[in-house]
Amino acid sequence: MAATNEIVEYLDDRLKIREFEDVSMNGLQVQGASVVNRVAVATDAAMATYRRAALEECQMLIAHHGLIWGGLKYVTGRNYAHLKFLMDHDINLYAAHLPLDAHPELGNNAILAKQAGLLKMEPFGSYHGTMLGYRGSLPSPMTPDELAGIWKGHLGCDPTILSFGKKKIESVGIVSGRGGALTEAIERGVDCLVTGEGSHENHHEALEAGINIIFLGHYYSEIVGVRAVGAELEEKFGVEAVFIDEPTAF
Ligand SMILES: [Zn+2]
Repeated sequence: MAATNEIVEYLDDRLKIREFEDVSMNGLQVQGASVVNRVAVATDAAMATYRRAALEECQMLIAHHGLIWGGLKYVTGRNYAHLKFLMDHDINLYAAHLPLDAHPELGNNAILAKQAGLLKMEPFGSYHGTMLGYRGSLPSPMTPDELAGIWKGHLGCDPTILSFGKKKIESVGIVSGRGGALTEAIERGVDCLVTGEGSHENHHEALEAGINIIFLGHYYSEIVGVRAVGAELEEKFGVEAVFIDEPTAF
């Protein structure tokens, strides 16, 4: 059991929550119970994850994609439904978007890079001037299928693979979510871009540049950060953390 404000202060500091310029309003977005026994962690703030957090008797939900983006607008329709549910169930909603992509230990990208055993890591994946991901070398060259297989195992995803480049990959650039780092990956000469979600025009751009891309899925590329936060809170505060798995189609 821990006081909500102690957990919030800890996360704000650990994730450097105020240091990022982000459209997500990071930090405690909706206030709930003042004491927490069980914490739910999920990629998305959504009715589906709130309902499961309530069923699991959690007093806090930590989401990578929170509810409030760029300030609160109208409390009607979907916003009303979300806020009403959270308040009726006394659930605190804490959001950590870019801070949880970029964090060097708990971040989505740091963990994805670690899972692949990347060496000689350097910042990669510029997003409005902040580097969110990592570029590095694989311990030994591997095919796009072999590389994708690593995350298939860790994340349970079914990656989409564009094998348009080198048959044996040595250098990799990783950026989670809707990475948008293809041009940077081409310019920096990586053999394979690993990201969450792509866009239609990526296909020919990658084909013409002769680069491999592995799309892990936006959702799957962003489950590892919240899980790591849950595990850390269990250790530091003695609360129970529950990962709420609600995969999206992307
Ligand atoms: Zn995302």
